[in-house]
Amino acid sequence: MEHVTTPSWAMFAYLISGVLFILALRGLSSPATSRAGNRYGMIGMVIAVATTLVTHDIAGLPEIIGALAIGGGIGFVIARRIAMTAMPQLVAAFHSLVGLAAVLVGWAAYLNPNAFDIATGGVLFIREHYYGVVGGVIKSQSCIEMGLGIAIGAITFSGSIIAFLKLAGKMSGAPIMLPGRHVINLGTIIAILGLVGYFTMDQSLWVIGLITLLAFIIGFLLIIPIGGADMPVVVSMLNSYSGWAAAAMGFTLHNSAMIITGALVGSSGAILSYIMCKAMNRSFISVIAGGFGAAPEASGGAPKEQRPWKRGSAEDAAFLMKEAESVIIIPGYGMAVSQAQHALREMADVLKKEGVSVKYAIHPVAGRMPGHMNVLLAEANVPYDEVFELEDINSEFGQCDVAFIIGANDVVNPAAKTDKSSPIYGMPVFDVDKAKTVMFVKRSMGGVGYSGVDNDVFYMDQTMMLLADAKKMVEDIVKALAH
Ligand code: NDP
Repeated sequence: MEHVTTPSWAMFAYLISGVLFILALRGLSSPATSRAGNRYGMIGMVIAVATTLVTHDIAGLPEIIGALAIGGGIGFVIARRIAMTAMPQLVAAFHSLVGLAAVLVGWAAYLNPNAFDIATGGVLFIREHYYGVVGGVIKSQSCIEMGLGIAIGAITFSGSIIAFLKLAGKMSGAPIMLPGRHVINLGTIIAILGLVGYFTMDQSLWVIGLITLLAFIIGFLLIIPIGGADMPVVVSMLNSYSGWAAAAMGFTLHNSAMIITGALVGSSGAILSYIMCKAMNRSFISVIAGGFGAAPEASGGAPKEQRPWKRGSAEDAAFLMKEAESVIIIPGYGMAVSQAQHALREMADVLKKEGVSVKYAIHPVAGRMPGHMNVLLAEANVPYDEVFELEDINSEFGQCDVAFIIGANDVVNPAAKTDKSSPIYGMPVFDVDKAKTVMFVKRSMGGVGYSGVDNDVFYMDQTMMLLADAKKMVEDIVKALAH
């Protein structure tokens, strides 16, 4: 691969794509402008990729078209087929590819520093002498960028694979605790940083090989102990890592578009992680140190089968809601699974016509990805002014007649407030127990939420369990309301 110095028009094109990426993020911050945001991002990416292809002698046209067709084809098929509920694991899988790409680019630069313009002048890099090359071959600054990029990329790769397996249910979501894991983790991270420093002096194959291997291992070790309800933070954290890996590689490749994009992804992922941690009342350090969500055996009170609970029908629910003055709907993961948002909106429309005040309460970690519920409600054209965040609506449950919980569980579990042994302890939850009547739509008494704990609200006097698929139940309620 021949290195070509980037012409000034290309720098300008990269700048334009950087600006378009910023506009994309801005657009994506609200459901109303998210489509436009997506479009800006797509245009920015086309400009960045086209500029890179034109200014670098990377590959022949047939190879580029072939790669685009294969990659684009796979992406197209996955995007068409993926269910909304499987989005989080898909995102985790894609992050792993970003990490792997950073590792591969780093290795390519190491194996061929002349092509990447990171070799020090004059000294020829002789491939046969892998083991004997000491100092002065690759610029020190590039060694650090490359070492860090490979390390972050490898951590992102193996960490994302574990996150994917946990989110897809192919591996238990329960935390796996290794004895002395904090010491092992900290020791490994220090060793990686030490090796990156040493790499500036000794560019032998074993140094970069060991950095890569240790980083793969630490990515794995960092994610396996995280379980319970802490996965959202992990997904956004890995998102952030993938950005930093790309930014580090941008420096190695002297590519400003990659630096800008990587920094945008890295910092927005970090901000999102911070917001998620705040929403869940977790400290960022304790989540990444792992094991916060350790699921104890007995949480959520007495065994469920021994406690009485009340079952209601769609007709009962319709009758009570029609009589109510105010209804607060709390959607969760189950609403997404059954795609009940359209029927739910229909139900709300009928209730509003009957003079009932209807509001939607969205928990920051409801569903399986940040903003999951907002996206679904927007898709069903629920007016934005009826949708409230946790802190804005939680004080209203005391005056509310019906709390209608549809496919949510962890986000309304009072164990988060009272049970120190619960994996969700400390996470702010909706105070649904203060509502006059609580309706719980779920398929069975046995089904638990993501963090796997029972919920005391099922057994409260004012609770009515509406056991059915969420969409079916809401459709039945709509029919019953019509009578
Ligand atoms: P939960 O996972 O706590 O509960 C889901 C509920 O939906 C269960 O009670 C389940 O019961 C019910 N359900 C499932 N399918 C259906 C269906 N077809 N019809 C009706 N009910 C159904 O969801 P929450 O939204 O309350 O909480 C989100 C959890 O996911 C939190 O612990 C959060 O930390 C975690 N998480 C969130 C992410 C995010 O970014 N938002 C990412 C990863 C994890 P049953 O089986 O009986 O029907």
